[in-house]
Amino acid sequence: MLVTIYTLVVRILLTGLCARAVPTPKDVLHNAQVFLEKYGYIDRDKKESNLGELEASISHFQWLSHLPVSGELDTRTLLQMNEPRCGMKDVSQPRWTEQHSAISNQRRRKRYALKNKWYKRHLTYQIVNWPWYLSQHQVRQAVKAAFELWGNVSSMTFSESSSAAADIRLAFFYGDHNDGATNAFDGPGGALAHAFFPRRGEAHFDNAEHWSLNGRGRNLFVVLAHEIGHTLGLQHSPFKNALMSPYYKKLGKDYLLNFDDILAIQNLYGAPPSGKLFQLPGKKFAYFLDWNSENGKGSESDTTKESPSYCRSVFDAITWDMQNILYIFKGRHFWTVTPSGNVSEPHLLQSRWKKLPVYIEAAAVSASTGKFYFFKGAKCWRYKESQLEAGFPRKCSSKGFPRHPDTAFYFHPLGHLVVFKRTKYYVINENSLTVEPYYPRSLKDWKGIPLETTGVLTHPDGSIYFFKGEKYWMFNQDKLRVTASGKWAEDLSWIGCKNN
Ligand SMILES: [Zn+2]
Ligand SMILES: [Zn+2]
Repeated sequence: MLVTIYTLVVRILLTGLCARAVPTPKDVLHNAQVFLEKYGYIDRDKKESNLGELEASISHFQWLSHLPVSGELDTRTLLQMNEPRCGMKDVSQPRWTEQHSAISNQRRRKRYALKNKWYKRHLTYQIVNWPWYLSQHQVRQAVKAAFELWGNVSSMTFSESSSAAADIRLAFFYGDHNDGATNAFDGPGGALAHAFFPRRGEAHFDNAEHWSLNGRGRNLFVVLAHEIGHTLGLQHSPFKNALMSPYYKKLGKDYLLNFDDILAIQNLYGAPPSGKLFQLPGKKFAYFLDWNSENGKGSESDTTKESPSYCRSVFDAITWDMQNILYIFKGRHFWTVTPSGNVSEPHLLQSRWKKLPVYIEAAAVSASTGKFYFFKGAKCWRYKESQLEAGFPRKCSSKGFPRHPDTAFYFHPLGHLVVFKRTKYYVINENSLTVEPYYPRSLKDWKGIPLETTGVLTHPDGSIYFFKGEKYWMFNQDKLRVTASGKWAEDLSWIGCKNN
């Protein structure tokens, strides 16, 4: 058996499947063993490299994954092991060899161990945290919809609670998060989430995934609904199109729950009191801005007012004008924040600056002329108030400006605009629109500033703030280095994300 695995693995290496990482056959075998153990195919106590045992585990995995059962680590088996999936075990026991004789009986029996259920019909849940780039409103809507999915086909009902005493808590974690080394998250891909059977009431999601609720990236709603299934007592389903199948599925157009999911939940909690099943097609769950199960239209029942949407994502550019009004640019919109902290509604860029493209890359206001500069690609735009100046947009890159600049701002000590691009910064002469002599220079002059920032500005108090992702760095002009850093949405009150 060992020989078979080795030859197979060698063959796989030669065919180039693993060309990227070039693992040795030993690594491949080891990784497969770790996988089979993590997902319950190998009994940890019995694993002393018993090859019969290993072959049986591989067979079991192949059978549950709808692959040809060969007991060997062939290409398809190894590929299947690399698919993104739920971190919960596929098998609690019994062994495949025993099961093989009575597959149909075993399959149904092992789906729901009798004690793994709740003994009440109404459960509360708490959303402990969520990815910073998703809106709280959308996450709440998605979680609500995910619980309703199960409530609509069973006798269970659910409601959100802000208390940590809720029956079920949903939380996002990075890496090891204190529930055992085998539950440590593994970065993007691999295990996406896991949960605990009743009545522990916990579902954990890998914060390293790029979760999304708008149809792109890793669909959080599908994974929420799956993990909630576990918290209610459901194990993995051997049916490929079941929501409780262990592998990540994209959100399809069809119903999310298949008959196996519905049988499993009703086996634990019975049918809805009405006797009727209420199912919604997957396409209803593609967007969560205004999710409502009855009609799919908006129902704004939230009492807490949301902070503006730039607060939860990466903005394109940020600048302060001569009246100390802060401007934040993102996509097609911009927001203003007054010195007293009043945040505007989102306005369309073109409503103020005609002919300006959307998704600009950098913006700055000159403190000597009050003019607005915008940069995107090879071009730049200059406006006096709302008026595009003659000769703009122009191809600034032909005068030595960097293409696709990271950020720009007006630097008072030099009395010039400064444009940043990766490892360099450029000082710009506003009259000639050329790069000043001896520039560009190295970003190292800005000690402590990371590469590729998304925004930079001078605060009216004189300190310079750089932004990237959810973080900011405050550059002290006297000490010529970073003297503070943190999360801008939380720490900088003047940015308008708090208490509004
Ligand atoms: Zn699962
Ligand atoms: Zn966990």
